[in-house]
Amino acid sequence: MIRASERAMGIEYAIRDVVLPARELEKKGIKVIRLNIGDPGKFDFQPPKHMRAAYCKAIQDGHNYYGPSEGIPELREAIVERERKKNGVDITPDDVRVTAAVTEALQFIFGALLNPGDNILVPSPSYPPYTGLVKFYGGIANEYLTVEENGWQPDIDDMRKKIDERTKAIAVINPNNPTGALYEKKTIKEILDLAGEYGLPVISDEIYDLMTYEGKHVSPGSLTKDVPVIVMNGMSKVYFATGWRLGYFYYVDPKNRLAEVREAIDKMARIRLCPNTPAQFAAIAGLTGPMDYLEEYMAKLKERRDYIYKRLSEIPGISTTKPQGAFYIFPKIEERSKWKSDKDFVLDALHEAHVLFVHGSGFGKAGAWHFRAVFLPPVEILEGAMDNFEAFMRKRLGA
Ligand code: PLP
Repeated sequence: MIRASERAMGIEYAIRDVVLPARELEKKGIKVIRLNIGDPGKFDFQPPKHMRAAYCKAIQDGHNYYGPSEGIPELREAIVERERKKNGVDITPDDVRVTAAVTEALQFIFGALLNPGDNILVPSPSYPPYTGLVKFYGGIANEYLTVEENGWQPDIDDMRKKIDERTKAIAVINPNNPTGALYEKKTIKEILDLAGEYGLPVISDEIYDLMTYEGKHVSPGSLTKDVPVIVMNGMSKVYFATGWRLGYFYYVDPKNRLAEVREAIDKMARIRLCPNTPAQFAAIAGLTGPMDYLEEYMAKLKERRDYIYKRLSEIPGISTTKPQGAFYIFPKIEERSKWKSDKDFVLDALHEAHVLFVHGSGFGKAGAWHFRAVFLPPVEILEGAMDNFEAFMRKRLGA
């Protein structure tokens, strides 16, 4: 047998791993309600018309060539405008890099920061590629706690305790996947202060920045004085174009402390040639065009959030924190005697109620005995899922 690398064999991605048993059921003709993947395009959400038109036009107009590794200048200019307006950051197109979505930005950033044995502070629970990619690049995902009783805000004392001499950066995901938490301005300031004290950069994942229900997103990029911040964002969520694989990141680095990291990232960017060219034209249309679609979509999502929160709150054996942003809810399994683990719980719910969730431990240590549900589907579908799930829980608990 030709052996594969340990690096690649060690990769786990809970969100897609649970799909295999669901597929087995579907092969037998059983209809599974999938609440596992955060993809708006699978439901009644599409990128706005002006973006779709711009994508088609770019292809028709012949923009089908390799572009610059850092992204086309017109898009980097549009990103600067968008981010100046949203976060008040003082950046130029030279500070912006366009990527194959946030996922590639993470590859660049972790690849450029980590030597074997270094670590990055990542939230627990967190979106799994943070742990997976840090590990892939030889690093250690150093998990800091976020506190459920405090609306899943980061625990700054725990963060401080976890920093050591091999820590290279602090990652912040806000609004958060999987918890739906929206961090307070005070929390962001405390994270910046801590990063400043230890001379660390902050990596800020803002992919859900305009998807909030209560309150507004605050970026560390807008508050930093001298701490280097790398802000990541893209077309996948707020612009509903997950399949286009287009995103960006930029440096807010007043003291130019990231000069070498920038150089390393540019080397990585050149070796992968360039991001998708026609999609960049569509992104310009998205960033500079009307945003009224978002209001309509957020109204739908709020109705769905309120519905699933109400239903989950009425089901015995679990407790639920109300998400403030993104489109995930992360209930806690309070009654644990019937299952061996949260994964066992999720598989039982799949086989018995035909609803697919993701087990919380797939999002890191602090996710254990929780599960994540996506509330993107229309209320009628959520209603079917919640009816089945409630019946399952009542049967299991005899309640
Ligand atoms: N970051 C977070 C926090 C996410 O939840 C996701 C997708 O669910 C991503 C990044 C991936 O984004 P992209 O599609 O831009 O790679």
